Amino acid sequence: MLKRTRSMVCLCIAAALSAPSINANTLELPDIGTTASSTLTIDQELIYGDAYMRMLRSSQPIVNDPVLNEYISGLGHRLVANADDVKTPFTFFMIRDRNINAFAFFGGYVALHSGLFLHAQSESELASVVAHEIAHVTQRHLARSMEEQARRSPATLAALAGSLLLAIASPQAGMAAITATTAGSMQGTINYTRSNEKEADRFGIATLAKAGFEPKAMPRFFGRLADEYRYASKPPPMLLTHPLPEDRITDSRARAQNYPARRLDPSLNYNLARARIVARYAGIQAKAAHDWFDRTEKKAAPGVKAAFQYGRALVHLDNNELDEANKILQLLIKGDASNHFYLDALSDLYIAQKQADKAQQMLEKAMKASPNNPVLTINYANVLIKLEKNQEALRVLQRYTHDNPNDVNGWQLLSEANIHLGQSDEDLAARAEILALKANWNKAIQYYTQASQLAELGSLKQARYDARIDQLMVQRERFLALQ
Ligand SMILES: [Zn+2]
Repeated sequence: MLKRTRSMVCLCIAAALSAPSINANTLELPDIGTTASSTLTIDQELIYGDAYMRMLRSSQPIVNDPVLNEYISGLGHRLVANADDVKTPFTFFMIRDRNINAFAFFGGYVALHSGLFLHAQSESELASVVAHEIAHVTQRHLARSMEEQARRSPATLAALAGSLLLAIASPQAGMAAITATTAGSMQGTINYTRSNEKEADRFGIATLAKAGFEPKAMPRFFGRLADEYRYASKPPPMLLTHPLPEDRITDSRARAQNYPARRLDPSLNYNLARARIVARYAGIQAKAAHDWFDRTEKKAAPGVKAAFQYGRALVHLDNNELDEANKILQLLIKGDASNHFYLDALSDLYIAQKQADKAQQMLEKAMKASPNNPVLTINYANVLIKLEKNQEALRVLQRYTHDNPNDVNGWQLLSEANIHLGQSDEDLAARAEILALKANWNKAIQYYTQASQLAELGSLKQARYDARIDQLMVQRERFLALQ
């Protein structure tokens, strides 16, 4: 069984902003001109958000799973569409971590820990956490908290934002670590943070209701978490200074009463996502995963039982028990031919069975209905590579990486296809893009320089590599100026 670890539902990084002991004189922000200013503009938030995201990619186990990304992104954007005061784009992503946690930061980035899925009992419960985080972004709590902090300390706003970037860069970082280590010294900010929390609950529950989820899921989930802490013999240090207070639960319960009660059927997609996490990202043995599916299926509504079959199929597939996996997946796809969870698993299965051509046909058919879908496209490119149709794969991936430049999967497959074709320069260029996404600017520039040296002198290709080197140098300068 999965170990239930306890931590707070929202380790909002606003809480991490306790008086940092940094020298404001050495940390300046020349490029975007805020050193003297006491407010952050939306543009500045976007720049910081992008920088934080790059640091997280290099320091956290981010789950680059196209199917799970599609699920959380769909859920997140359904909520965003029903939120007020949306001023930034939103990006939802998953971190492989069994601690229950979610956090949001500048630029509309919202992180969900995989452990959250095992704890939330319904899609509405998960959505209540996501809606809460969205509200932190739309209400600009982090910026407001930093502005407040800057007023009360000798550090400038830019220095505070930069110190957070440095904190993320530290190897053992992650938001939880930052929050935990500074919790003891955040008495000055804790009230402010609590008011942020309540505001995020208030806006979050409105969004939840408007988006068609169960408003009562929020107090239900918070209440269950609070119950666990109450009986925890050794709560994490952070909870001693930053508990999930009873009044927050009472407030959200009262607020939920203001909305018409709604009882939704359990969501199949939510349960498919959970099953996929248990099978692939929970770090447990096959036997334990099968036990989990058996146990959870017994309590599940008939409409979601397929999710546990799917989970079993994944475990079989990953353990090379291909016949068992095949039996289950064929039944599942028969009942739901356009389901991306199933198409993705079957595509892997056919590859494992050395029948990648079957996967190609299946995906081509599915892509007629949704041509640029990331899950289908990534699987399709992967299948083409397995079939040694590397030129075709290149065409698909060049377009994909152009449309989805922040998806590491696309660059990885592009690198792979180029290796098969013996195109070392293009392989280096693709890997350089992954490095740049992780703020490893020097190495990215080094790879592009090597690519340029390999390219024909004066060729268009070489000009493209050189132009990219110039861009990366500018990005590196801007990035370093933020710290
Ligand atoms: Zn919060």
